[in-house]
Amino acid sequence: MLLQDLTEVYEQVRGTSSKLEKIALVAELLRTTPSETLPLVCYLLRGRVFPEYSAQELRLGWSSILAAIRAVTTITNEDLTAAYNKFGDLGSAVELIFEQKTKISMSLVSEPLTVEECYTALVKIATLSGGLLEEAIAQAFSVNLEVLRKAYMVRSDIGEVARIAQEQPETLPSLSIVLGRPLRPMLAETADNLEEGFKRFDKALFEYKYDGARLSIHKDNEAVKIFTREAAEVSTSLPELVADIKQIPHSFLVDCEIIPFEHSPKAFQELIKRLRRKHRVAEFVRKIPVKLYVFDLLYLDGTSLIDTPLINRRERLKTVIPPTEQIEIARCIVTKSGAKARIMFQESLDLGFEGVMIKNPHSLYMPGKRGFEWLKLKPEAETLDLVVVVVEYGHGKRANLLSDYTFAVRDREGNLAPIAKAYCGLKDREIEEMTQYFKGIAREQHGRTFLVEPTVVVEVKFGEIQKSSLYEVGYALRFPRIKRIRWDLSVDEIDSIETVEKIFQRQKRSS
Ligand code: AMP
Repeated sequence: MLLQDLTEVYEQVRGTSSKLEKIALVAELLRTTPSETLPLVCYLLRGRVFPEYSAQELRLGWSSILAAIRAVTTITNEDLTAAYNKFGDLGSAVELIFEQKTKISMSLVSEPLTVEECYTALVKIATLSGGLLEEAIAQAFSVNLEVLRKAYMVRSDIGEVARIAQEQPETLPSLSIVLGRPLRPMLAETADNLEEGFKRFDKALFEYKYDGARLSIHKDNEAVKIFTREAAEVSTSLPELVADIKQIPHSFLVDCEIIPFEHSPKAFQELIKRLRRKHRVAEFVRKIPVKLYVFDLLYLDGTSLIDTPLINRRERLKTVIPPTEQIEIARCIVTKSGAKARIMFQESLDLGFEGVMIKNPHSLYMPGKRGFEWLKLKPEAETLDLVVVVVEYGHGKRANLLSDYTFAVRDREGNLAPIAKAYCGLKDREIEEMTQYFKGIAREQHGRTFLVEPTVVVEVKFGEIQKSSLYEVGYALRFPRIKRIRWDLSVDEIDSIETVEKIFQRQKRSS
């Protein structure tokens, strides 16, 4: 199949804003795609090269892409940067360069399959993420969309599922989990308060929310495989868990959270030193002990449980996983009582955990879905008032907007010291207005970056404060987000490094 057949459809898809027309165009392409090529076409349409369950990536970095463009054109660095700055998007920049052929001599333009064609193709693909491809496959092979979605959930491989839809559509409803192949985790929405669970599902199931890394553990007879949320296998770095799990006389798939733990939960960064480690594993098993909290059972001895209500999955879980020194079943309560929920929340914080998860006891497990069947609740985040010192153009849709801000705190000498950078938090209209405002107070421009007069004070929310060498001040905010612009505050009123340290100490005490 010629790459051109695919890119033509990308062009047509790009040319219409009608979702139905897009689906019809892709469906027609899929119908005429030979079955051996169908999975590849589906991966490409998703902007991928490998199935979703695979941790393999293309790993084509920015500099390789620039080098590739320079290899087929005689364009200078400056021209390319100028074109990129115009759009904030490499695809559009390359398009511009190729349109200006008179100015630039091309060395490879007559080749039938070129780097730029492939690259443009891969960029366009991104437009087909989301549900659109699933709808096109369902339409192409006349299968029920919900059945197809479910099949994709359990298989995490859109190419494989498309091929089954084409060749054996009647087997789609009975497709099941494959042990050893990562399943995409079910995700939670944020709850505003503890009562939200009761409003949504009467009785609610509360668990502690552990601040670590999501893991799924697949045990297929003797074989134990542990995967991260990104589908990377990390079994080698966790030999003590593998040894415990090997003892369990069942085949299963469990969903869990791992945290660094020595008498109490330790800082999340410790975990990074352990996960994915391939060398000096034994030494780090001793140095950084971990605890695994298992909170869900998705498959047991040949039977998928994702269509079984959570409350029943929880019952079964207890009978399968015996607690060990480093493995525990996550504590849970099912209640209607606001008082009991509040006690659970406070207990979680007292024990050094992050908050609570509030789950619908009757919910089914929806791999890869973020929804309101699971809610997460953390204490009201602390905020800091900081001043914007650097602004940058964003990327993609925000390429022409100054949407990325660096914030500074006041250090001990009274100087402004950067401590965080945030990309989001403001509404599009506000960002547009702020773009004009910041251009007016810009002191210097370096490419896509502007140093601005330190006059805009913002209230910044964050996950936590970390010690960090990223900024000279020695701290960085984790997950910073702008809560609101404080037009009522001046730069003299921003928070100081002392406040940052105070919050950091408080955080440490509670963990
Ligand atoms: P967040 O990362 O803030 O979106 O919160 C969701 C994440 O919390 C999940 O992806 C898990 O990694 C983690 N988590 C911690 N405890 C639990 C729990 N009891 N149930 C489900 N997820 C949990």
